[in-house]
Amino acid sequence: MTSHVMNTYARLPVAFSHGAGAWLWDEQGNKYLDALAGIAVVGVGHAHPRLAHALADQAAKLVHTSNIYVIRHQETLADKLCALSGMDEVFFSSSGAEANEAALKLARFYGHQHGVSNANIIVMEHAWHGRTIATLSATGSRKAQAGFEPLVPGFIRVPYNDQAALERVVQDTPNIVAVLMEVLQGEGGIHIADRGYVAAVARLCEQRKWLFMLDEVQCGTGRTGQWFGFQHFGVRPDVVTLAKGLASGVPIGATLAAGRAARLFKPGNHGSTFGGGPLACRAALETLAIMEDEQLLQNAERMGHLLRNGLRQALEGTAGVVALRGMGLMVGIELARPCGDLVKQALQAGLLINVTRDNVVRLLPPLIINESEVAEIVSRLAPLIRQFLAAGG
Ligand code: PLP
Repeated sequence: MTSHVMNTYARLPVAFSHGAGAWLWDEQGNKYLDALAGIAVVGVGHAHPRLAHALADQAAKLVHTSNIYVIRHQETLADKLCALSGMDEVFFSSSGAEANEAALKLARFYGHQHGVSNANIIVMEHAWHGRTIATLSATGSRKAQAGFEPLVPGFIRVPYNDQAALERVVQDTPNIVAVLMEVLQGEGGIHIADRGYVAAVARLCEQRKWLFMLDEVQCGTGRTGQWFGFQHFGVRPDVVTLAKGLASGVPIGATLAAGRAARLFKPGNHGSTFGGGPLACRAALETLAIMEDEQLLQNAERMGHLLRNGLRQALEGTAGVVALRGMGLMVGIELARPCGDLVKQALQAGLLINVTRDNVVRLLPPLIINESEVAEIVSRLAPLIRQFLAAGG
């Protein structure tokens, strides 16, 4: 029978019925090790008892009111996120794309307040910021943009991690109000920006009074072993966006603002029906509490090292492995040729992985993963990669 679901994903032929920790079971009862966590979402693992209890408890009390009233859990969550990040205030939405939309609106609004009515925002090649028209326009993927033109104007794209190119573009471009970038590109192939580059961008923004905006939808919320990716780089952003792992799969987006980016919006400038609702905020508060109590930042850091070292050893000397990159539990293995087929082969071997940019195997396991599960990922994945590369093509 043909599906009535719109054909926007090339779905794998598997449907899961339940999970526990880093494991999922399909409808036939087969068990899989989840090295993807719903693409960096389920950090605390599947069916965490504390999260399940918090969601059930909240559902029995209050799921939705509206942002026209005070939402207590939203206030508490904003306090918590500001305490963890050093930012000043938060706008809540329901996805990463919306969190970035709010950031882009903030940047334009900031421009208007400083006499710039046709603002330009610097964005990066291979960046991923979402699929709404504005965030798609900011995204550095021609493949994703094709067919949706005209794109939103006002984005100037520069090569990632290239300070000289940035400085050249900046010389020739008027009306810049902000830079939007990921310190660690996820969809772009697990590329980590150089510390010096991130510092230079931050400095440039500070000198020119632009907003330094970091998309941490994928690399935020503990995934890299710090609460936020920028905390590895010793910089202070003006805007940070979060989503994915923040509420363990209950839809949420958050746009954090500080300093000159804070206190810009007034009532009527932006909004959302669902954003920051009681259920999503309770899920986020419980997620953050679990992360603290179970020391998941430390675990992400430690397991990330084990995973990268394990893979490095297991793949040592394998022709066709171009690079192994990562930070915490965000890991990419770049191969010399397109390797989308590996996803299906891994599925058959009971392992969930992903491939991005055609030739980068991406691993984003839950932050609760333990040593034996890391060893299991390595022992299931490395032979598949070796066989795949040996088969040529
Ligand atoms: N920004 C980054 C860095 C992402 O990785 C993604 C999704 O992969 C998005 C934004 C878009 O998030 P969402 O799919 O929740 O709209």
